[in-house]
Amino acid sequence: MRIGIDLGGTKIEGIAIDGDGRERLRRRIAAPRGDYRRTLDAIAGLVRDIERAIGVRATVGVGIPGTISPSTGLVRNANSTWLIGEPLADDLPRLLERPVRFANDANCFALSEASDGAAAGAHVVFGVIVGTGCGGGVVVRGEVVAGANGVAGEWGHNPMPAPRDDERPGPSCYCGRRGCIEQFLSGPALARDYRSAGGAAATAAEIAERAAGGEALAAGALSRYEERMARALGSVINLLDPDVIVLGGGLSNIERLYDRVPQLWAPYVFSDRIDTRLVRALHGDSSGVRGAAWLWDAQ
Ligand SMILES: [Zn+2]
Repeated sequence: MRIGIDLGGTKIEGIAIDGDGRERLRRRIAAPRGDYRRTLDAIAGLVRDIERAIGVRATVGVGIPGTISPSTGLVRNANSTWLIGEPLADDLPRLLERPVRFANDANCFALSEASDGAAAGAHVVFGVIVGTGCGGGVVVRGEVVAGANGVAGEWGHNPMPAPRDDERPGPSCYCGRRGCIEQFLSGPALARDYRSAGGAAATAAEIAERAAGGEALAAGALSRYEERMARALGSVINLLDPDVIVLGGGLSNIERLYDRVPQLWAPYVFSDRIDTRLVRALHGDSSGVRGAAWLWDAQ
């Protein structure tokens, strides 16, 4: 049995998956925001609670918002800021008296979809979460590629490729740079683009709805969004040449992306033929917690 834990900013979710990939149990608790010690205890309590219910000791994988630094072993880049600089990768294995595997939540997403989701069976998978931010993860032959610096797949903070004049230098990003892909492809970025073209305040989902209803401003914003996604993913195809690119997060629900973006990415790809498929995540919001469980494979 494998236990996956998804450590979120507001909730901590746990799941037990058996050897056949079937979900046996799922529990969700509120995250002790702002308190690292209580977060540790909450995770350990959740694991023990699940093990009592399933009756066996299991492997434990944890998806975190951020990464464990390969050089210091400490949490970094986490938007749950109370985790930053903490030795989670030492403390949790000690508390649980077993090795624990950790991965970034976007990597867990990619692993879940590559294991038994929309990209099952594909050799090279690029998983993208487009929501409040824009994260990415790489899975090759069923294994997460973490990378020498622990940032493989962190494509959202690359500059937007082939920027147009009106995209330079681009919006400021919290990472300290300007014109990051995230500043064009996240939900807030789409909403900002729509507003700056004269649209009213609206969420990404509302903009997609208005575009479907024939509103010209919304259709324009969505067309610009698709063209930008095509450029951004075209550079991913050149570098990684994935069999499948899986989209998750709130914006992955915009159905027309799956037709339009692949029609637009050819000019940015150095190949006369593109077989990469762009697909929507199968497991939706569950991909993070499922991928954490998959950090320990079936053997
Ligand atoms: Zn950035």
